[in-house]
Formats: sequence, structure tokens, C-alpha cells
Amino acid sequence: MTGQIGTNGVTNPWKRYDLRNRYVLKGKIVMQTAFHIGGGKGTLSNSDSPVVLTPEGLPFIPGSSFKGSLRSTIEKLVPNLPETAGLRTCGLLDKSKEEFKRLKAQGMDREVCPTIPVRQADITQLRRENPGEEDAIQDMVFGQLCNTCLLFGSPYAAARISISDLYITDTEWGSIIQRRDGVAIDRDSEKAKDRLKYDFEVVPASTTFDMEIMLENVTPQDLQLISIGMSEFVHGFGVIGGKRSRGLGVCLLEGLKVQGLELVGDDITPQERNQRLRDYLLERKFSREQDGEEFLDEHINKIFG
Ligand SMILES: [Zn+2]
Repeated sequence: MTGQIGTNGVTNPWKRYDLRNRYVLKGKIVMQTAFHIGGGKGTLSNSDSPVVLTPEGLPFIPGSSFKGSLRSTIEKLVPNLPETAGLRTCGLLDKSKEEFKRLKAQGMDREVCPTIPVRQADITQLRRENPGEEDAIQDMVFGQLCNTCLLFGSPYAAARISISDLYITDTEWGSIIQRRDGVAIDRDSEKAKDRLKYDFEVVPASTTFDMEIMLENVTPQDLQLISIGMSEFVHGFGVIGGKRSRGLGVCLLEGLKVQGLELVGDDITPQERNQRLRDYLLERKFSREQDGEEFLDEHINKIFG
């Protein structure tokens, strides 16, 4: 089974570490409304729901939180794209055991992304029943992952995207964390519970953060997915943090710039590759620099091409 092409059209070319490309996307996230990313316990705040802060007491956006927002933004759009683009997403939505059983009986279980919990259980069983076949099973599973799992990661594949924590641009930030009142709602009656008022903290609107995303060994499909996600943030449809139904967390991505180090391609000779890698290692010189708009145009057009 080794080397077999999966339903996602890829083999698993990166068994041995091989640097094929690297992209760095930089820009500023400007909050259009206040936002709330919970900091949990262990902060000095006496609020019922404090926001996450750096040890210096400044608000920040954890990279994992931004990654989650970006992933769900992309997952919502993928099912609407033309089928010819060949982009699939499982949206991390589980299926019932009955439905999976029915699909399996029809030989369609391989269409279910391996990340989906009911399929994971099935793969675990397959491994148990076929000791010594781990490599072949891993190849098969990798070949069936959906495009968002390949980019953002899954228990069967490392993510090709990494996002640093987003720190505040203006370190002289003079604003203060605001406190808002909420009312706990009884889910059954949908009425406010007596005496169940609570408060939560928000970081005020117009606070600005530096964003940096790194992509490594991405495919053209990965770049298309990233581009539709970035485009949503550029046009003000990106949302981060919690309590979104209250209109919190709306943000805008400004000043997007993309740097790329491309080491593999039809027009890249071994000499050219070595030159590019050398320039990168010695001077951090990328083989490509693009404005956000140009980058988004290039990759989004390919989806509809
Ligand atoms: Zn998936």
C-alpha cells in the first residue's frame, strides 16, 4: 500500500524531512469591536471571567486561539467552492455510529476524513487487527485526510501552519480592560436566572496586534485555503475570541505582506535551489515578496480558474 495515492490526491511525500517551501505572512489585526479571550483562573483579576494577559499585564491573542478562528472561517467557506477546485473539509463534524456503519457497508468509509472521531475509532481497530501493517495503514489514512486537516493538523498529520501569539503593537498601550455585565440564562426556560448576574472582561476596540503566520511545505491547495481565510479577515469578516453573539471579536487584517522561500518547482534547477537556500540562510532573503492583495488574487483565482 506504500506510495498509494489517496483520495485527496497526495501520497505522503514528506516522510523524510525535506524543506520544499516556507512562507511568512505578516500583518496587523485591528479590533473593530471589543473582544474576550478567557484567561481562566490564576490571574489577579477579581472578574468572573478575566481576559488572558501577558506577564506584563498586556492583552494578547494566543496563536492557538487565532488558529482556531482561522480554521473555522475556512471550514465554513470550503463547501461553497466549485467542485473543480477539489477542496474538501470535514469541518471536524462527527457522524453517528449508525451513519458510519451504513457508509462502511457501501465501501464509502474512506470518504470520511480520518480525523472524525467515529472514523478514528475504526482506524484504531484496524491497527489492532493488523499488527505489523502500521506504515501501510498510516499511508492510507494520510491519503484520505481532508484539506483543512492537512493544513491545520490532525492526529495523523502535523500541521503545516503555525501561528505565533499575537502581541500588542503599541507597547505604550494606555487603554484599560473593560468590564461588562452578563446575565446567566437558564437554557431550558431561556429566562434570566435570578441573582445569576456575572461580569466578564473585554479588551477595548481599536487595540492592534501584530500577526505572524508561518507555513511550511505547503501545497497549492494549502495556499488557496489560507488565501480564502485571510481574505475574510482582510474584509472584516474575521472574528476572534468568545461571546461572538454579542458582537464581540470583530477584527480587520491590515497591511498583509507575504514572503516566500520556494525551493521546489518545474523552473527551479538544483543550482537555483541552492542559491535560494544559501541567500535565505545567510541573509534571510526570501525568493519572493508579495503584497497581500496580489497574493490573495493569485491563489483565489486558481480556485475558480
Ligand atoms: Zn478533516
